[in-house]
Amino acid sequence: MEYVSTRGSAPALNFEAATLAGLASDGGLYVPREWPRFSAEDIAGMAGLPYAALAQRIMQPFVGDCLTPERLLELTTEAYGRFAHNAVTPLKQLDEQQWLLELFHGPTLAFKDVALQLLGLLFEEFLGRGGDPLTIVGATSGDTGSAAIDAVAGRARVDIFMLHPKGRVSDVQRRQMTTVLAPNVHNIAIEGTFDDAQAMVKRMFNDSAMTSRFSIGAVNSINWARLMAQVVYYFAAALQLGAPHRKVAFAVPTGNFGDVFAGYVAAQMGLPIERLIVATNVNDILHRALSTGDYSAGTVTPTAAPSMDIQVSSNFERLLFDVGGRDGAALAAQMAGFEASKAMQLTNQQREGAARLFTSHRADPDQMTQAIRWAWDASGELLDPHTAIGLHAARAAGIDPEVPVVTLATAHPAKFRDAVERATGQRPTLPTRIGDLFEREERLVELPGDYAAIADYIAKHAVARG
Ligand SMILES: *Cc1c(COP(=O)(O)O)cnc(C)c1O
Repeated sequence: MEYVSTRGSAPALNFEAATLAGLASDGGLYVPREWPRFSAEDIAGMAGLPYAALAQRIMQPFVGDCLTPERLLELTTEAYGRFAHNAVTPLKQLDEQQWLLELFHGPTLAFKDVALQLLGLLFEEFLGRGGDPLTIVGATSGDTGSAAIDAVAGRARVDIFMLHPKGRVSDVQRRQMTTVLAPNVHNIAIEGTFDDAQAMVKRMFNDSAMTSRFSIGAVNSINWARLMAQVVYYFAAALQLGAPHRKVAFAVPTGNFGDVFAGYVAAQMGLPIERLIVATNVNDILHRALSTGDYSAGTVTPTAAPSMDIQVSSNFERLLFDVGGRDGAALAAQMAGFEASKAMQLTNQQREGAARLFTSHRADPDQMTQAIRWAWDASGELLDPHTAIGLHAARAAGIDPEVPVVTLATAHPAKFRDAVERATGQRPTLPTRIGDLFEREERLVELPGDYAAIADYIAKHAVARG
């Protein structure tokens, strides 16, 4: 399988090179040249497979001959063996129509582990084949950072520099990053928002002073391998609910549009999906873009769901590319306009293409709280704020009652226990596997939200190319 850039001018790469490159050299994102397709019989034949085996089946066409099927299965078995639930991503029923897909049974309690545990192993595998040591530079609104750090801490030939917006992540999120003391882990708290951090990371990929000295890699969902790994649980859930013979809708709490784009990929591969419901909080650029075509970034409002406090959604570019006729040059011009003015209008082709599968809903803080209370009353389930926003959208979307609606439960409620306690009066307890988090020593540096200061810090601490 070959990967092409959404902006049309970077070289096409194979899976291994695209995984190590992260962002394309023209500023675009890598996408497969075409979508692999499974027939209804292929999908029916996946029913009942263990998660690791299903993951190998779904991902092999994307990986191509960069990994043998046997090797890929070893890696998926190792990655998903670290989850605290044997089903890896179990499904729970809330009422006749509503379901939860629990994606938080990995080591750091959010869905990011599903992709990043595998990505850590892929990095190790590919770096073991030679080439330069990898300098991972990432931005996190909280969950990517801890999941990526857990996945690469202590591994050979890789350093990780993780930027988080100071004071805008929860205590649990921060401590899950800063208490990992492995020498290859560097936590940087910056003044500013997640969008500021993300913009600096993207800038570094296009800064030749840095890229000539360091081989810079990505763990954010600009890295294709992350999205690929997330496609698997859409199949896993739909198979349990009767696919390919019955359609399923998904509601996805959305920030960078990575998780829900993986659902779009599953649909392109042949999974019968009725609707993808994009759920946003009051930082609603995606809701506005999908409902009116207006993709314009406002200022970020901090909320109880910080992983969705995003105004610029990197992966939306992958959707615009695919539904807009895959015209890299036209999209490069459109994105240049957005980068200059922080606003753009979707073309009719893009709007119509997106509307075939996507709808969107926005939840304000009251609606989020009501969704937590509803789930608690209906079924005794405690939801984290992100999942609650997803469930609000799931129930508001007006899906045909015959169609099951699966909300992606993206974080464990204990990761956001203060917000959950405010809504329900119940304080979720931290699972025992991370129980002593508040006794551990923290290590981090604080830097201004200034590109030069951050580049300088990384240049002083990273291992240069050979
Ligand atoms: C990252 C994250 C999201 C948003 O996912 P995207 O792929 O960025 O859309 C939602 N909820 C939680 C808990 C997250 O960590």
